[in-house]
Amino acid sequence: MNAKTQNAKPAPVGLISSAASQRLLEDRREQQVATPWGKASVLTGRIGGREAAVVLRYGPKLTIPSHKINYRANIWALRELGVQRIISQNAIGSVNPAVRPGDIIISHDFLDRTKGRPLSLFDDTECWVRVDMTGPFCPEVRLSLLKATSGMPDRVLDRGVFACVEGPRFETPAEIRALQREGADIVGTPMVPEVTMAREAEMCFASIAPVINYGAGMAPAVIHVGPGSMNDEYYAGGLHDRIEKALIEAVAHLPEHRGCKCGQALRGGFHGQRPGWLKNCSIDDQQGSTLPVALEDD
Ligand SMILES: [Zn+2]
Repeated sequence: MNAKTQNAKPAPVGLISSAASQRLLEDRREQQVATPWGKASVLTGRIGGREAAVVLRYGPKLTIPSHKINYRANIWALRELGVQRIISQNAIGSVNPAVRPGDIIISHDFLDRTKGRPLSLFDDTECWVRVDMTGPFCPEVRLSLLKATSGMPDRVLDRGVFACVEGPRFETPAEIRALQREGADIVGTPMVPEVTMAREAEMCFASIAPVINYGAGMAPAVIHVGPGSMNDEYYAGGLHDRIEKALIEAVAHLPEHRGCKCGQALRGGFHGQRPGWLKNCSIDDQQGSTLPVALEDD
């Protein structure tokens, strides 16, 4: 870390979630942020005294299903606001019988089983990128989540493979069995391409995922309301409130400045003409218009 970084004001922390209570985000106000993919609505305020920006991925009234979210605008809006690190909250289903409703997963890897979503921030440009996904989630953000959840009464698993599927429907029993064979532990719908686009934007990203149901075929049905339902699991037992408290703590545990490598994700993997909207990234103009390494034949 150089002196300039040490003296710089800490960047706002980003959160992508389905809801944000007044307790989670203080001094909140809504902003419409212009991006190359249209405007994105972002709540700004403070979490535990630190500047924060929150994207409600389903919209303020939960009207946007996972397959219709403007992922590129959401990610880029957070970057435009100066966010460097994103915590994603994902209420999800279990695929692995050893993972139970009520558990909390801090995923270490993911499977992309989406079908029709934009794959890259750089579609429709004169360039493309090939970012490393060996460590798909930021180690520093994961660590802050693990510290924040360490005192919770719930079982917290520090590893898990998150299968992201297209939705908006739930999976069939055959699909859940297929995901089990592929090594998935949990399943949800919106986490990809948020995680991949965050990496393309050189932002840190990690997910905290409360488990609120078993996948199809692992229980008689996936129930929305009533006894044994997802709503009961998440809200009636207080899990949602505990997750919000953990998010506040996780933000407090984040170092003021990044020490990870997420901020150099484009270095060496960027090919073509840099678009005008790509600002403040780890490549300079000269590097951005060359092929720095011989590509594999694939
Ligand atoms: Zn990072």
